[in-house]
Amino acid sequence: QADIAMYWAKEKGRDNAQFFTPEMSNIVAKKFGFEKEINEALALGQFSLVFQPKVLMEKNDILGLEALIRWNHPVKGLISPADFISIAEESNLIIKIDEWVIDQALQQLKAWRDQGLRIVPIAVNLSGRHLVSDSLVPYISQKLIAYGIDGCLLEIEITEGVLLQDIQRCIEVMAELKELDIRISVDDFGTGYSSLSYLKRLPLDILKIDQSFVEECDRHIEDAKICETIIHLARSLELVIVAEGVETAPQADMLKSLGCEIFQGYYFHRPMVSADIAKLLIADPVFG
Ligand code: C2E
Ligand code: MG
Ligand code: MG
Ligand code: MG
Repeated sequence: QADIAMYWAKEKGRDNAQFFTPEMSNIVAKKFGFEKEINEALALGQFSLVFQPKVLMEKNDILGLEALIRWNHPVKGLISPADFISIAEESNLIIKIDEWVIDQALQQLKAWRDQGLRIVPIAVNLSGRHLVSDSLVPYISQKLIAYGIDGCLLEIEITEGVLLQDIQRCIEVMAELKELDIRISVDDFGTGYSSLSYLKRLPLDILKIDQSFVEECDRHIEDAKICETIIHLARSLELVIVAEGVETAPQADMLKSLGCEIFQGYYFHRPMVSADIAKLLIADPVFG
């Protein structure tokens, strides 16, 4: 959003973006024809998924995958989700995108299973708007049936901020997701809010330590202490802890010494196209 904010500010002859509001962003987004382009992208198949493994460090086992969206724009090239998800989140477009992601992820699991591969759960990132909508649970249950996939193979990642916006609605939806056996992760944990009361009110399974704490955990004692505290918190609440954005051996070693065992990051694997994931799953037949 920063780019758009700057664009707006420049257009208005202002030298900073502090007047930027969601309304302006809507105007700018429309001006860019972004919504139209996103719709076209869906229709023309310009989106794709890459998958990043979550590994159990001890044995280098792949425990799961996270699906990350990519937009191959015919003119602008590869556009990162950071540059279009926030715009899509301002309208129901995000629901269309995230439904597409859910559909693709489940279709991918079915394809791997049909090929006789060992399959592991896939996590999808959902926006708050989608989580609290009436359409999420019916959509997922219909797709699970259509592809013959168990709910326990699907995981949902939600950022902390979302969980506090409408906690009552989150409780309702998550109860329904749990009935489908779907796992729920808190993404970017530690960057959102100081209130932790939602942790005991929601049926969560996993906390993902945000990359910003991991980045310097081997060099700054403060970051290491924050990671340690999050790991202890997760353990005492019986939540699985995953560290994200692990790029180096010293970071992984530090986190391991603090009690974290599951890692996601470039040090282990970059996000990969499905054919490369299939090779990994063949090479790593741990759980048969
Ligand atoms: P996220 O869910 O926290 O995903 C982790 C991001 O960190 C991904 O960026 C991933 O490629 C990147 N990453 C993983 N390991 C490393 C590492 O070792 N070092 C560094 N520097 N980065 C690493 P990506 O794919 O650009 O996605 C950015 C964000 O966009 C995601 O953050 C997520 O919030 C959102 N996003 C991605 N795909 C989707 C989607 O399908 N739907 C929605 N609603 N949001 C999505
Ligand atoms: Mg995520
Ligand atoms: Mg994250
Ligand atoms: Mg993130």
